[in-house]
Amino acid sequence: MSDHEVIVIGGGISGLMSAMTLSKHEKEVLVLEKSSRIGGNCNSYDVEGFQVDTGVHAISHLLVGPMRRIMDLYFDYVPVFMDLGPYYIRTHRGLTKVPSNLREFAFFDVLPKKDRILLSQTITIAFTQSTLGTNLKNQSVYNFIPKGLSQDSLDFIDALCYSLSGRSMKETSVHRILTGSSFMRDSVPENFWEDEVVDTSYKALLTDHFSMSQLKGHLSVLSRLANNEIGMSQKYPRKGLKAILNSVLYSMSDKVKITTSCKATSIITDNGTVKGVVTENGTYTADMIVYTGFVKDLPSLVTDLGQSYVQDLKDIVQTHSMTIWLGLDTKMSELNYIGSEIWFKPRAYWAMPISNYDQELAPPGKQLVGFTFIVDESVPLVEDKKRMYKTILEALPNIEEHIEMTHYQYTIPEKAAVTIDGYFADSRTPIKNLYLAGTDTDSRSMGITRAGYSVLELLKAMRDEGHI
Ligand SMILES: Cc1cc2nc3c(=O)[nH]c(=O)nc-3n(C[C@H](O)[C@H](O)[C@H](O)COP(=O)(O)OP(=O)(O)OC[C@H]3O[C@@H](n4cnc5c(N)ncnc54)[C@H](O)[C@@H]3O)c2cc1C
Repeated sequence: MSDHEVIVIGGGISGLMSAMTLSKHEKEVLVLEKSSRIGGNCNSYDVEGFQVDTGVHAISHLLVGPMRRIMDLYFDYVPVFMDLGPYYIRTHRGLTKVPSNLREFAFFDVLPKKDRILLSQTITIAFTQSTLGTNLKNQSVYNFIPKGLSQDSLDFIDALCYSLSGRSMKETSVHRILTGSSFMRDSVPENFWEDEVVDTSYKALLTDHFSMSQLKGHLSVLSRLANNEIGMSQKYPRKGLKAILNSVLYSMSDKVKITTSCKATSIITDNGTVKGVVTENGTYTADMIVYTGFVKDLPSLVTDLGQSYVQDLKDIVQTHSMTIWLGLDTKMSELNYIGSEIWFKPRAYWAMPISNYDQELAPPGKQLVGFTFIVDESVPLVEDKKRMYKTILEALPNIEEHIEMTHYQYTIPEKAAVTIDGYFADSRTPIKNLYLAGTDTDSRSMGITRAGYSVLELLKAMRDEGHI
């Protein structure tokens, strides 16, 4: 008899949501977290009176999507989410709203008119091809866009690619841009087909010609080309990112135990079936194990995964990010907006003045803003940090005299980047009863939404195998 029904390795948001949902299926669960704090990349903490998050966060697909589903089905407490507000492009002229659809794109004068016309045609082609079923997952943005665009337009497209995939336009797929910019859904809710979206007789007519899944894709794509609103279902949690973590913890049943400062060093198997976990603090046996650390590291924990599986895991691509949090002694007029901004020349950042959502995140009368950069691995980090700082000063020349707190966070935002050749693992592994969850086990959407997808896939796999 095992010590535990389920052991979850990793106490980030994927591990904790796995533990919480499994406990609601009457499983008794032990969570092992190597660090002294739980939450992983989904947390907030105090720095000199300012409450910073781990990176700047926009939580997406909250109206319909995996997190909505998990919250509805399993949470006892849900965070209060506030509308994220628009995305802006900052240039030396100030802020311009990022276009959500082709009509708005026509007026987006950050880019030259000639380029806008060329790019509108390209977007329409991408939509049409995607609607007709062409697989754009292997098609790089770089190869898809028209030749002869200005450097400004190329830098802009590159910045979008970095923010959506963590990689340049040469490694980002067209499919990623369409789904990541909310133009296309990467999934539909299970009740979509029951909704009164399409008249019943029309549904019957269409399904004579298309499969159900094809049809769902076509409808969502075509309507979005004209009406898309990027920010519509994106939100920021009141009281900061830790509000999401706290809601998961408050929703946990007493069937879950969490042990921190406890690193899993190997996973014990017998005859291809999982048996337990060896940690720095001792050995625990379990009927099932859910691993939510880096899947890339799995071969160092368990030996009999098989050569081809181990080979595939080597293709997981990761990107490092640096977030620079600045605590300001005043509220700057340049940052007087609700939403987030992108700067794209010569170096891209994505920034959010998060105390504008909630003044409690900064001391009274002060402001907190986070700037996230993708790290340039080709230069030493110290050098790159200086360049990032310089970029902030270039974008906001008045900011320096107001900085009273600077805090750097060096992180891996997603355990796997969605690049053209990047690999994603499945929730099942070659070892019986060893499962995976986390942002390297599902390529849909990003961040916490992707963590949500991975937990739903985990539950599905366990249900299929009769465990829950
Ligand atoms: C700068 C930045 C910006 C981001 N922006 C957004 C955004 O806008 N929107 C969004 O939705 N998401 C965003 N994210 C991503 C989001 O925060 C993460 O995707 C999510 O928190 C990942 O959760 P996870 O549990 O899968 O992984 P992690 O948070 O990495 O958790 C894994 C946990 O496992 C533990 N662990 C690993 N190995 C072991 C072991 N051997 N034994 C015990 N414990 C182990 C780790 O210590 C960690 O706590 C951003 C992240 C960053 C850093």
